[in-house]
Amino acid sequence: MPTIHTIDLNYLGVPETIASYLIVGPEGPVLIETGPESSSRNLTEGLNRLGYEPKDIAHALVTHIHLDHAGAAGWLAEHGTTIHVHEFGAKHLIDPNKLINSATRIYGDQMDRLWGKIIPVPEERVRAVRDGETISVGGLTFTAIETPGHARHHHAFALETARGRICFTGDAAAMLVPGIPTDRYVSIPTPPPEFDLIAWLRSIDRLDDARFKTLYPTHFGPVHTAAGHFVTLRRMLRSHVEFIRTMRRTTSDESELVRKYAIWTRRQAVNAGMSEAQIPHFVSDNLLRMNVTGIVRYLSQREAN
Ligand SMILES: [Zn+2]
Repeated sequence: MPTIHTIDLNYLGVPETIASYLIVGPEGPVLIETGPESSSRNLTEGLNRLGYEPKDIAHALVTHIHLDHAGAAGWLAEHGTTIHVHEFGAKHLIDPNKLINSATRIYGDQMDRLWGKIIPVPEERVRAVRDGETISVGGLTFTAIETPGHARHHHAFALETARGRICFTGDAAAMLVPGIPTDRYVSIPTPPPEFDLIAWLRSIDRLDDARFKTLYPTHFGPVHTAAGHFVTLRRMLRSHVEFIRTMRRTTSDESELVRKYAIWTRRQAVNAGMSEAQIPHFVSDNLLRMNVTGIVRYLSQREAN
């Protein structure tokens, strides 16, 4: 039975927002998600607490290439780690310029503070992974499950354990808020340009059908009640897209949409039990803007087709 450790990256000083998972197998430790480069010190400290150094991590699996999941891949590769990544994400880790440019369009001068220094992963340190492929590392066998919707190229990683099958879901099972039961509220990240409701719902079906005993979302697991979690997630995704669809009938001004979406989403969060102190971190302005832009783009593309 592998031991699964949650490393809280304490991202921007906020606990339980981004996790890396360290799975200690019979032949060594495997890291799931490197987190952002701006948290690399916290990652190192987390590894140290478990008795490891970055150089002890021979293999890291990342669910997708967004900076909160794989931003520190280059930094970790400098310590000798091989990064396992979706076959279509591999080239963006080797040459992160496109990744940096598209993030800069969203985050502007906040880039450094939020994400740190993103450096390339040397080609020989990248292992491209395909749907259904098994990854045998640390004496463990992970299976990659293609799960688009949040991002076009996204894997969840299944692992057989003595206590049942578990899954590291990246963002495919969305995000939890500390202290809020997942049958009440799940936070959904719907970023442009790749958010796709239909694809995401299909990915959820795929994960739900696998009847995992435990889910480990990157933001922030674990979830022991997968079936109930997926019910909430489907409902939230549909209702948020529907809200924007309806609002767009009265305005096409995106800042007006963000304003209305913020009021609606924050009310929903407070009704689910979120405290005022949690709001700026878990229903942040950045998240709200990103979600509106992502949903609007998704809807306009569908209208155009
Ligand atoms: Zn994420």
